[in-house]
Amino acid sequence: MSEAASGPPAPGPTTTPLLRARGLRKSFGDHEVLRGIDLDVHRGQVIALIGPSGSGKTTLLRSLNGLETPSAGVLEVDGGPTIDFARAVPKAQRFALRDRSAMVFQHHNLFPHLTVLQNVTEGPVQVRGVPRREAEARATALLERVGLADKRNAYPRELSGGQQQRVGIVRALGLGPDLLLFDEPTSALDPELVGEVLGVMKELAEEGWTMVVVTHELSFARAVADEVLFLDGGVVHERGAPRDLFTNPREERTRQFLHRIL
Ligand code: ADP
Repeated sequence: MSEAASGPPAPGPTTTPLLRARGLRKSFGDHEVLRGIDLDVHRGQVIALIGPSGSGKTTLLRSLNGLETPSAGVLEVDGGPTIDFARAVPKAQRFALRDRSAMVFQHHNLFPHLTVLQNVTEGPVQVRGVPRREAEARATALLERVGLADKRNAYPRELSGGQQQRVGIVRALGLGPDLLLFDEPTSALDPELVGEVLGVMKELAEEGWTMVVVTHELSFARAVADEVLFLDGGVVHERGAPRDLFTNPREERTRQFLHRIL
């Protein structure tokens, strides 16, 4: 198994964003949760989404990979055709979005009745049609990288919460995505287990994976993100490099949020 096969996709020759979102809106009934979000995600970039609970971070993340269908706005994936959510979105376009990305959830969502190796290979084999031997070789290499090769035949219940979440990350990597989406991957963990998961995420960022991360771990965002977006009430109130946004926020709302959480 070569390193390249389990590493991030090579950067493209252009500066076309991997993902370009404009004016994304999403309502649940009368409640407008996203109120016009613009976002560019370039290859190799790590973007952190921060903000109070209920501000729309998860909904935005899920909108980027087709788990939620925005009510309006447009998305372009890698300079491809514009997906306009104000019109009916063809299934093929929705699935195209999903195929390019992989999500790591707050609760790892591993199948309890499958072993670690089966959990990691299920998606590539069943959904993406990767031959089983190839999926297993890739999964084994990825498990080695996060220090869990010896757990490949264990069941999720036999692992610690941190180990389970590392398997969740490997499962996402096993899909061979261009974009990794993390939805508060450490918030369900005991404090002493948070570090090992953030450590893996930091390594992935350093390797050049493209990542969008919803997180309350501001020190992680500060150390790892290229850009931080502060959301409140479904609007991006401030965005910028972490050193600017964290040390010298322009907006009063950002300041208040940071005071509360830091
Ligand atoms: P955050 O991730 O910032 O905590 P969310 O995106 O999870 O925010 O939620 C934003 C708002 O949207 C919340 O008020 C939440 O209750 C609401 N919401 C999220 N998902 C749904 C849903 N499937 N149906 C109805 N309301 C939802």
